[in-house]
Amino acid sequence: MELLRSPGAMRAWADARRAGGARIGLVPTMGYLHEGHVSLVRIARERGCGAVAATIFVNPAQFGPGEDFDKYPRDEARDLAMLSEAGASAVYLPGVPDMYPEGFQTYVEVTGASQGLCGASRPGHFRGVATVVAKLFLAAKPHVAVFGEKDFQQLAVIRAMARDLDFGIEIVGAPIVREPDGLAMSSRNAYLKGDDRIAARCLSRGLFRARALFDGGERDAGTLVAAAREEIAGEPLAKLEYAEGRDPRTLAPLEGRVDAIAVVVAAKVGPARLIDNITLRD
Ligand code: AMP
Repeated sequence: MELLRSPGAMRAWADARRAGGARIGLVPTMGYLHEGHVSLVRIARERGCGAVAATIFVNPAQFGPGEDFDKYPRDEARDLAMLSEAGASAVYLPGVPDMYPEGFQTYVEVTGASQGLCGASRPGHFRGVATVVAKLFLAAKPHVAVFGEKDFQQLAVIRAMARDLDFGIEIVGAPIVREPDGLAMSSRNAYLKGDDRIAARCLSRGLFRARALFDGGERDAGTLVAAAREEIAGEPLAKLEYAEGRDPRTLAPLEGRVDAIAVVVAAKVGPARLIDNITLRD
């Protein structure tokens, strides 16, 4: 597994892989890896990528003032061991000055998909995400890039960007990997201690309640979303940020009778801001 620490090294690796006829898969992460991240590497391999590059970069441009950029958990040695075990061919670990040298002034803005949900409470967040992912795409020149459905809105933003800017990259969405009790795996779960960790189950519990209703024949968007919202609102240690029903593909808000719906939720539990979602369809 090759370690690449600058955009130039990343580009050289990608050019050599392309010249050798390899299909390149890209898995962007912020590190402090868990089974969810590992699953993305596996999916890239299953999609026929003979060369899979994972990236580890805690991107300052997607954190707002007062957010957890400085506290974000980091463990490079453990991450590299996990990626090697998962079968990654290369890991790109640029430093902040490599990605944002002095005088940096170019950003990518995806208008529609960035609005509402997490975009409402984290102004500038998706601009930071789109910008860094565009830079990763240009350096790693992947054929395929894999992103988790856990970050549902992020996936929609990246799909829109890849399409609108003609990146010619296949964007693959990967299923959410959960802890045995239902909590969606996240690097930020490291912030959850004691009662907060137990309380954090309310997000997935709410989504599973919506799924049980859907499986029982319920098709009213408002009723499905209310089931999730009530479960989170009923947990004293959780502070609900949003619970909404969206079109799984376009992210358009949904009301009334639905055939397919993504129920998307966000809540603060102790020091952790958590997001989760579930897609329900016939
Ligand atoms: P992060 O390191 O949190 O920025 O996540 C890097 C990538 O892993 C993103 O595409 C996430 O959507 C994905 N990811 C994070 N958590 C999970 C999970 N529990 N299941 C599947 N994918 C995930």
